Amino acid sequence: MTKIVRINLETKGIQIELVEKGHSYEFYGGRALSAKILLDEIDPKVDPLSKDNKLIFASGLLGGTFAPNSGRFSIGSKSPLTKGIKEANVGGLAPTLLCRTGIKALIFEGKASNWQILKIQDGKIEFVDADPYVGMNNYELDIKLSKKFGSNIGIFSIGVAGEKQLKAASIASMDLEGYPSRHAGRGGLGAVMGSKKLKAVIITAPKINQIRYHDKKSFKQVALKWGKNLQETKKGFSKFGTLMGLMTMDSVHGLPTQNFRSGSFKDADKISGEALHQYLLQNNGKFSVSCSPGCMIRCSNIVFDKNGKHITSSLEYETIALNGSNLLISDLEKLANIDHICDDFGLDTIEVGNALAVFMEAGIIKWGDADGCIALLKEIKNDDKNALILGNGAVQVGSALNISRVAQVKGQGLPGYEPRTFKGMGATYLTSPMGADHTAGAAIINRTPDSDLDYGKLHTPKNKVELSKRLQIFTMILDSMGQCYFIGPHIENMPKLAKMLNARYGWSLKTDDLVEMGQKWLKIERDFNLNAGLGATDYLPAFMQEENLIDLPDRSWDIDPEDISSFWKKL
Ligand code: SF4
Repeated sequence: MTKIVRINLETKGIQIELVEKGHSYEFYGGRALSAKILLDEIDPKVDPLSKDNKLIFASGLLGGTFAPNSGRFSIGSKSPLTKGIKEANVGGLAPTLLCRTGIKALIFEGKASNWQILKIQDGKIEFVDADPYVGMNNYELDIKLSKKFGSNIGIFSIGVAGEKQLKAASIASMDLEGYPSRHAGRGGLGAVMGSKKLKAVIITAPKINQIRYHDKKSFKQVALKWGKNLQETKKGFSKFGTLMGLMTMDSVHGLPTQNFRSGSFKDADKISGEALHQYLLQNNGKFSVSCSPGCMIRCSNIVFDKNGKHITSSLEYETIALNGSNLLISDLEKLANIDHICDDFGLDTIEVGNALAVFMEAGIIKWGDADGCIALLKEIKNDDKNALILGNGAVQVGSALNISRVAQVKGQGLPGYEPRTFKGMGATYLTSPMGADHTAGAAIINRTPDSDLDYGKLHTPKNKVELSKRLQIFTMILDSMGQCYFIGPHIENMPKLAKMLNARYGWSLKTDDLVEMGQKWLKIERDFNLNAGLGATDYLPAFMQEENLIDLPDRSWDIDPEDISSFWKKL
């Protein structure tokens, strides 16, 4: 049996509710559970940084089990950036440990009067005074907390950006090597955690794993076969990580370059997966690293400099695209430094890349000036005016500097896929309740949700809204299982999930039931946004609707707005 733990930071009250058969949240987990709690319990018009907003940590329905890649986790709230519902997905050690304590969700309510840490150890949940840790960034904080509370712990934390309630602030999760490198990055959820004066959540490995199975043998049968298959078929991903496809993105004119002016970058080869792989080999770096227990793909990496000093863990495609090609920066080591600083302060690298691009538009930092970016980021600690604007995201930089060329949807910076080329991805940016999001329905090259329909060429509008819709449903399902979406938001994986859910909980779900649930869960997020006063669909920024790509002058945004607005009617 799992439980929902409600933590009132104002009164320090802790309430535990068991989720038994027939409980209204029995069939909800991860992203779906977080969305349902938010829709049920908060006023959608609430100020995201007020005490009336809630912060939800939600375990997936298969989180921490033998299911492949089930070490992922959902953190949700009303976003200070989009003003809509938000789920950010994260790995690290803490999610698995939390699942193993039998906790289905932590619901943080209210606002503490002084900084707190929540500690969960073998069924005991208690507050720890966080005052000694205030002002610390994530790297120092993880070292200090591991020293005090033992090395066998998982940590969720915020750095100084979260403390200052900056709207691009993330929530860090300590990885398996002890670095705060995994982040629930998008939507400013670190600011929500900061607004509650919650510095960290620490989970100690439970003595007894509370995960139970209705039919463990059948569960393991499906899980192990699937895991083995992933291990064998995703070897390239394991070697080159998420940067694997950067050169292909560039060749199809899909790599954001100079604040989304162009879809290809002359120095793409210097920031490619192959270039990073060479750098890792030369400097004793590591590739094929897992971000969380049970990962069968291992797309992460660890970057050291030539003196053997750790720079950052997992230099990823999104960080490189938004802070590399999009800012005309091609120095991998400097990009690793930008990544480290963002992880340390607790900032979303996608939002930061978009915001830095606006500083470059204004001429405050020169295009390609990595040192200028690093210097400005570091000034967050000193409350420098421009640095704080940067930490509040691209839209705020645009309005402070009077620059209209801001690549955003719903107030959130665009990920690393040029929507005029990746039309399906563009459809996701405009229809997902998450706003511009790289994981909600990632219609990247060759990714299809099924073989039922001809989805046309990457850059043509043909069936792209349908492509986005199906990917969004399957991704919602994976996010609600607590599984990494790299295992594939594809119809062929749904029967395996249904089998594992039935074997774990004694249910009798069929594939169609699961797909229906995914649709219902997406609508919960949409309903929250409608109640918050947001539209169900959006528009790309004016410059993207008006301009063609510089490197391919006939490449424009050409999906009919009617087609976009039909998304929810067809769901
Ligand atoms: S595939 Fe990559 S992101 Fe997904 S769980 Fe594994 S290491 Fe983490």
